[in-house]
Amino acid sequence: MRDVEHASRSDHVSPHQARAGVVLGQGDDCALLAPSSDCRLAVSVDTSLADVHFPRDASAGAIGHRALAVNLSDLAAMGARPRWFVLALTLPEVNEQWLEGFARGLYDLAHKHDIALVGGDITRGRELSITITVHGDVPGDDAITRHGARPGDLLAVTGTLGNAHGGLRAWFEGQRDECHPLVAAYLRPAPRVHEAMSIRGKVTAGLDISDGLLADLNHLCTRSGVGAHLDASAIPLDPALVASLGASDALEAALNGGDDYELLLALAPEQEAAIREALGGTLHVIGRVTSESGITGITSTGQGWQHFQGQGLQGQGQRSNDHGTGATP
Ligand SMILES: [Mg+2]
Repeated sequence: MRDVEHASRSDHVSPHQARAGVVLGQGDDCALLAPSSDCRLAVSVDTSLADVHFPRDASAGAIGHRALAVNLSDLAAMGARPRWFVLALTLPEVNEQWLEGFARGLYDLAHKHDIALVGGDITRGRELSITITVHGDVPGDDAITRHGARPGDLLAVTGTLGNAHGGLRAWFEGQRDECHPLVAAYLRPAPRVHEAMSIRGKVTAGLDISDGLLADLNHLCTRSGVGAHLDASAIPLDPALVASLGASDALEAALNGGDDYELLLALAPEQEAAIREALGGTLHVIGRVTSESGITGITSTGQGWQHFQGQGLQGQGQRSNDHGTGATP
């Protein structure tokens, strides 16, 4: 076991430490942190496994970026400001060059979001595994939750959907250019941290879209005790995705693909103008909250939809049963 920051230090890496609130960082048995007294602490943990959550032949930098990005997205989902994170890394072999690239991807994103690594270790194990716990803070009762949506609220998302699935599909078809826009959407997602902080307190409910729009909308509806009606024609699709998959599959990717890490929000109609001003052109209204349970307006059931599992895309709706989205026309 070694200290992650020490192990990954090199001329190319400048580990940024957002020191605010760090009383004692790495080097002792625990970090000592001083949360803001007027804030709630938001904590989330997520594990990324090679060939389960990301392809092992992706670059080390992309793997480092993605592992932190999916955790930051959970802070964004709650409207929390990123503060600190800890990292547990399991590697089949310790490869200094790989570790350098991994650290660069990780720290570049950490720097961008002003979050400090305050502890971690590296162990040797059979499979590449990355577990990150993030800590953020959110003032008073401003946290965005899944349970506040009310009938009549608008449903909106913060960007185009489906690109990550399009990128994953391109990857399995042999596209290895990590700058390819769809591949980049999958490997290097941009969590909506700043956007979420700018609208907390103005939305009634929200979460990040990790499982796919229908699955995550179902999570929101279940927690809020409501249903939803979607306008399929309003779901934002990237022209690059439509060009790659065709219109029909592009919409399916948006509904069921997952890994987009955009935000799905419920908001009172009278808040739309203020939220649109805060988010600029990224806000897309896609439907409304209903009092009847279930999701209407969309014909997709997710049956036969393909997700990343193991060595490639697996068919026959492998994860759709888990989601139980229950979308009906
Ligand atoms: Mg989430």
